[in-house]
Amino acid sequence: MQEIIGIDLGTTNSLVAAWRNGKAELIPNPLGEFLTPSVVSVDTAGIVLVGQAAKERLITHPEITAGQFKRLLGTDKITKLGKRKFSPEELSALVLKSLKQDAEAYLGTGVKDVIISVPAYFNNQQREATKLAGILAGLNVVRLVNEPTAAALAYGMDDKTESKFLVFDLGGGTFDVSVLEYFAGVMEVRSSAGNNYLGGEDFTEILLRQFCLENSIDKNTLDPSERNQLYLQLDKCKIKLSTEKSSKIKVNIAGKDYSWQLTDSKFVEITAGLVFKLKDPIRRALQDANIKSNQLAKIVLVGGACKMPIIGATVTKLFGKFPDWGLNPDTVVALGAATLAGMKMKAVELKEVVLTDVSPYTLGTSTLCDNELRFFPIIERNMLVPISRVERFCTASDGQKKIVVDIYQGESLDPEQNIKLGEVAIKVPAAPEGEQKIDIRFTYDVNGILEVEVEAVGTGIVKRHVINQGTSGLSAQQIEKKLQELQKLKIHPRENYKYKNILAKADRMYQELLSEERDFLARNIMAFKSILETQVPTDIDRAYFSFNKLLTE
Ligand code: ADP
Ligand code: MG
Repeated sequence: MQEIIGIDLGTTNSLVAAWRNGKAELIPNPLGEFLTPSVVSVDTAGIVLVGQAAKERLITHPEITAGQFKRLLGTDKITKLGKRKFSPEELSALVLKSLKQDAEAYLGTGVKDVIISVPAYFNNQQREATKLAGILAGLNVVRLVNEPTAAALAYGMDDKTESKFLVFDLGGGTFDVSVLEYFAGVMEVRSSAGNNYLGGEDFTEILLRQFCLENSIDKNTLDPSERNQLYLQLDKCKIKLSTEKSSKIKVNIAGKDYSWQLTDSKFVEITAGLVFKLKDPIRRALQDANIKSNQLAKIVLVGGACKMPIIGATVTKLFGKFPDWGLNPDTVVALGAATLAGMKMKAVELKEVVLTDVSPYTLGTSTLCDNELRFFPIIERNMLVPISRVERFCTASDGQKKIVVDIYQGESLDPEQNIKLGEVAIKVPAAPEGEQKIDIRFTYDVNGILEVEVEAVGTGIVKRHVINQGTSGLSAQQIEKKLQELQKLKIHPRENYKYKNILAKADRMYQELLSEERDFLARNIMAFKSILETQVPTDIDRAYFSFNKLLTE
């Protein structure tokens, strides 16, 4: 059977894992790490750097480096890296490609099939965009799986106690809550809710705002390199506050040195608004699952941002019990995706396991009611997927020859307040009002992707439409063309990635240092470069070891 890998494509970090020897196993990148920063940098020769080395270049080469593009998936926002323009799908594809290479090196075999995890609350466009990213990376996306569902699957395999539990997933850019039940080998998602635009990065943004406010700096006048440098320093400051009472940063902006200190209590105070936003999806998920918080056996925390003490404290207060830290919140989603890959490959150890999931949003159309357009739900949120529902509608005026079916996702009675996913137009024979009928069928698959079929009952004509109002509405030829273009970009070879990475790190440090320290570093950079040129592996290894030591001291 073909190998299927599991990929957690995160806003901040991405991971790849596979089902091996009866368990899910994380796959290391060329630096031997499991977390690969979701950052892409492209040099003039068209060589692509992904991961830590690219992250260093956010500071030294901001004009040709990009991060956080997962937040743009499903939009048509273009990122310019030098002369090249990239869609969010293309940038994501480069991360996927790099992870694919890591998997191939580790597994010693070609890899084509992949399961990619997405936030449960990702909408149809964002899911389509993720699938397209997979295709552009030369992968066959066997399935998309909701991140909290994947996390729950990993937990379920770890502790086979039958129970109801809640997964609280706060990553870099998204927040998801899922309520699940594990019973007789069946992992059942009862409900999902969340916010696609709330995550750890928003906490760092608040720090950025606060820093600028207190230091009378206009945030919008920061140059990209300084902004990235400040942002990364503030992110470190935030992470430090997870274990310490206070944290200090030193930065140079527009030639001026700044030193800024933040205490944990001040941090809690300025981020209270974000923490408050976490409550609503929790309430909704519990309500939709028809489960009281005291019926939950455990609260599972997933995502790096959960390491902020305020999150644990908020969860404890809301549920009256301490959260579960059983598995590493950074890696549990990837392990779950690999577990699902194991299930797809029919691994014997997973023979008894069944997974069921739900649709996180209500999907429907609009109808005219007392001369006003109203949202008409066809598939309600938190129904078991896959699901197919059909509703019959009729013409609204005499002699009407065409019906346009608008397709919406959302929970508001006012269609304008919901997300329009697309439309399907169909011809009907002219007749008195209400006489001609159409059947609208909505089919929602296990990947969370919707397909709409409209049939004019009078003529039997059927119009089929896979929703694609986002950028993913590309034809097969357009996709093929993009695939070819992307293939011209070569991902930096794995073999000497660590040398490229250490030089990127040294460059970044050079930019941050001053005077003697700076000269000292410059001499060491030159020395290391000249040893690299000798191409003598043992010498290079030795030099790498001491250079690395120097940079981490
Ligand atoms: P994603 O899956 O979206 O890539 P992750 O789960 O990797 O996100 O979480 C990344 C977020 O978690 C970032 O905003 C990062 O700053 C934050 N984070 C990681 N470690 C910590 C920590 N120890 N304390 C506070 N925040 C953290
Ligand atoms: Mg994540």
